[in-house]
Amino acid sequence: MLVASVIVDVAARAVDRPFFYLVPSQLAVDVQVGCAVSVDFGNRPVVGYVIGLSQMDEDEVEASVGELSKLKPLLGILSQPYFDDVAARLATWISHEYLCTVSDALHLFTPPGGSPKVKRVDDAWELVFAGVGPVDDRWAIPTEAASSFAPAKNAVKQQRVLDALFCGGMRVAELAAMLGNVNPTLKALEKRGVIRIEHRRRIRDAMPAVAGACANVDALTHGQQEALDVICATIAGDAPSNVVVVDGITGSGKTEVYLRAIEDVLRAGKSAIVLVPEIALTPQTVGRFRARFPDDVAVLHSRLSTGERFDQWDLVRQGEVHVVVGTRSALFAPVRDLGLVIIDEEHDSSYKQDNAPRYDARVVAYELTRMRDAALVLGSATPSIDTLASCEGGVLGERAWQHVLLPERPSGQPLPDVQIVDMAAEFKGGSRSMFSRALVDALLGVHERGEKAVLLLNRRGFASFVLCRECGFVPECPHCSTSLTFHERNGTLVCHHCDYVEPMPATCPQCNSPYLRKFGAGTERVEAELRQIVPGDMPIIRMDADTTKAKGAHERLLEEFSAARGGILLGTQMIAKGLDFPDVTLVGVINADTTLKLPDFRAPERTFQLLEQVSGRAGRAEKPGHVIVQTYWPEHPAIRAAAAHDRDLFLETELPSRDELGYPPYVRLVNVLAWGQDERAVRQVITEVTLAINSSMISAGHEWEVLGPAPCLLSRLRGLYRWHTLIKAPIGADVSAVIEPVLKARKASDQVRIAIDVDPDNLF
Ligand code: ADP
Ligand code: ZN
Ligand code: ZN
Repeated sequence: MLVASVIVDVAARAVDRPFFYLVPSQLAVDVQVGCAVSVDFGNRPVVGYVIGLSQMDEDEVEASVGELSKLKPLLGILSQPYFDDVAARLATWISHEYLCTVSDALHLFTPPGGSPKVKRVDDAWELVFAGVGPVDDRWAIPTEAASSFAPAKNAVKQQRVLDALFCGGMRVAELAAMLGNVNPTLKALEKRGVIRIEHRRRIRDAMPAVAGACANVDALTHGQQEALDVICATIAGDAPSNVVVVDGITGSGKTEVYLRAIEDVLRAGKSAIVLVPEIALTPQTVGRFRARFPDDVAVLHSRLSTGERFDQWDLVRQGEVHVVVGTRSALFAPVRDLGLVIIDEEHDSSYKQDNAPRYDARVVAYELTRMRDAALVLGSATPSIDTLASCEGGVLGERAWQHVLLPERPSGQPLPDVQIVDMAAEFKGGSRSMFSRALVDALLGVHERGEKAVLLLNRRGFASFVLCRECGFVPECPHCSTSLTFHERNGTLVCHHCDYVEPMPATCPQCNSPYLRKFGAGTERVEAELRQIVPGDMPIIRMDADTTKAKGAHERLLEEFSAARGGILLGTQMIAKGLDFPDVTLVGVINADTTLKLPDFRAPERTFQLLEQVSGRAGRAEKPGHVIVQTYWPEHPAIRAAAAHDRDLFLETELPSRDELGYPPYVRLVNVLAWGQDERAVRQVITEVTLAINSSMISAGHEWEVLGPAPCLLSRLRGLYRWHTLIKAPIGADVSAVIEPVLKARKASDQVRIAIDVDPDNLF
């Protein structure tokens, strides 16, 4: 008999395993892996997904379900297959790797729009999507009779409709926009057989191609050609590893390499997926791909409406398009015959999802491309330390990843020179401004020459560390080498890795200065001060979370800056990446330290990457660029290395420090989080869970480092208390096997929630 293993769409760990159902003979022809089905589950109909089908004899059934009579039949098939058996295997892998339920993992593969429900309609079960699904347009189509038809003299509207339809069919909505209510007229024309009304599928698309988005490149540079050759060999399966890291400086022409690699994949009749960071998915980015592959690109993005996402997803599933451009979750698009996955700006933290399932798209892409015999390209001007380690054969790679360099720009323009300004020295010199003399002079020069400047206010997360404005001293934990966080509630400095506490000092422990300040100014304040410094006719365009809230505001501000003759673009991290304005000759970083001092072991890496990326915004055309970096910590390796564009210099200090302190790429981190309204309950639960993990670990024969429990850096978020425990396991350790039984044994509680973050991107 044919038996289906089904994952029921019920959010509970207790039922997070496949259940077996008998496939009745009338459904046997249509059932496939990936179909949504309705099943009887505890005497009510629920939606499930088929993840496997097998012929079993009675003995096998009895071995897996107990009595044969307990094997219930499938009630009905609700959909075409959404995914195939490789995807089903990948979902199971994700659920294990990231400790989420299989049904959470499967939702990555099912159509956008949340969990469907089943409904009984006339004796059959039907799938109901909440507000999504395909939509149709009404079209008015002229028939052959139209050319010889002459309306009556007084039927003016009929004549106007026919005039409008002279060149062919039109959407009724469009006709109505031109001519007002046309329904009675259309009905009359339809009756005479002059037109017919058709329903046609409408494809909702938020990012239609932008014209002129892409200058064509005639010849590749030597480096580009070499990178392309390596990628093509990898696509053909002729390479030592299926991963290619394209390590190319900003402006080195990586996108052109991607485009040609995709051409290669399409020629072979396969499909490609391109992932870009959330803030880089703009109409301009999409335009470059759509211009090269007209009508063959779907865009998938979390900010699209559900309907838009559904249509794009469905185009992919039907094999209508072969290239998907999107953010993180586009990795799960149902492409046919995947040949290539490209992850651009692979160091970007938006590739890690910070709610369940907490997957890392880079890691999942590695697994996916290996399962499907496809190539994976990771591109960046500043590859992550983890990726660089895999090029040496560490972390993920069983074999060292291929590593190609693009050290030059096609324009021949060198990277801009970077000047470091010591803000502590400025302060000592009597200046209380957040702008150094050097930056002010440079801005005035830019104004004089009618050029443009980009100013970065570094405001990642929440800057709640304390800093001495006189000497740059930042209080640090004696055990963890991370900065301490100021707690307003009780006036203490706390370490969020190990729970170390000390009182907030009144004066600087290093130089006795009373100028101990919580750091972090808002963009608005910076703008106000800037207006006092530069001439009144110099446009200042501010881009931050506030000014870009409205839909399309982001693009509008960039267009405004692009169209302006000279001016300053002032913004947060969102301006650091991917912007390509030829007339920007100055980049200023107002406070390079903010990210450096976050209590996060990746802080130096992020700072280095940010400075390198933002520097890349200057001098992209003929005029050379200049970068000014203001910092209280001019001798920090991340700052010195970014100023010299010297990654090796940075790694020389960063890698030994990671090794010594026990951080990736030398260990695997797992962050166990607990949160809830009652701090005592949270503390009790996290303690219990930590103890349970400890004993599970010991009985499995491991001796991993377990730190905590301690309050999270964000110790209270939206009124909820947050605690965590950090586990440090060796590379390659199966952490899930240790933690999974602990989670399964726990009763889910609404009072205190638990989350496991494997390979966390941050420890907040
Ligand atoms: P990256 O993504 O590496 O930062 P881009 O792909 O944006 O760089 O390329 C930077 C600029 O160089 C673009 O304007 C692009 O059109 C141009 N470009 C790319 N390759 C070539 C080439 N072979 N010859 C001339 N210009 C090129
Ligand atoms: Zn001091
Ligand atoms: Zn500590």
